[in-house]
Amino acid sequence: MIRHFATDSPSRMKRSLLPDAVEAYVDATVTETDVQRRLRSETARLPNAGMQIGADLGALLGLLIRTLGARNAIEVGTFTGYSALAVAAALPEDGRLVACDVSDEWTSIGRRYWIEAGVADRIDLRLAPAANTLQALLRERGEGSFDFMFIDADKTGYDAYYEAGLKLVRAGGIIALDNMIWGGRVADPAVNDADTVALRALNAKIAADRRVDACLATIGDGVMLARRR
Ligand code: CA
Repeated sequence: MIRHFATDSPSRMKRSLLPDAVEAYVDATVTETDVQRRLRSETARLPNAGMQIGADLGALLGLLIRTLGARNAIEVGTFTGYSALAVAAALPEDGRLVACDVSDEWTSIGRRYWIEAGVADRIDLRLAPAANTLQALLRERGEGSFDFMFIDADKTGYDAYYEAGLKLVRAGGIIALDNMIWGGRVADPAVNDADTVALRALNAKIAADRRVDACLATIGDGVMLARRR
């Protein structure tokens, strides 16, 4: 019997496959700025708190940005801005993150913290359906013009965002996709709702995709890391 966590569910904050005590230990051990910690705690009080990434994933995103020497990044799904804060803080001063979301209400929370952290001018927030923004970026900037992309939005849209990412991200760049374990539901053949089916199919597709080197890392709710060849 596979235990299903209600990740990304309005009613639960649980976003990790780890036992509660271990998750609390990881949370307490991960390096996080004071601004990040306060944004995380403000978001934790919202009804949709489970949509926020954990501090461990934030740290991983920042580490990837620094390791890649990234200057140009894209995020699909900003929510209250924690991942954008982690990415923008790791970018150089002239680096830019294009953040895609459709909620002014949620991203306004993030903006307050981006300003406080001094990284607001590195974040180009585009409030529009991400598919439209990604097409616009392809026209404006061209193929291979980004170093990094983080996808954490509507699960049935992931495949299209990933395909757009393979055009926008340069060879050697990384596309990271959150919630690819989906509370364990991808591993349970009895679960066949649209989100689970979409994520399960995309895991299989990326694993066999010769355009990338991939690793399904079990951080948080599972993050697929795909490095463009
Ligand atoms: Ca997520």
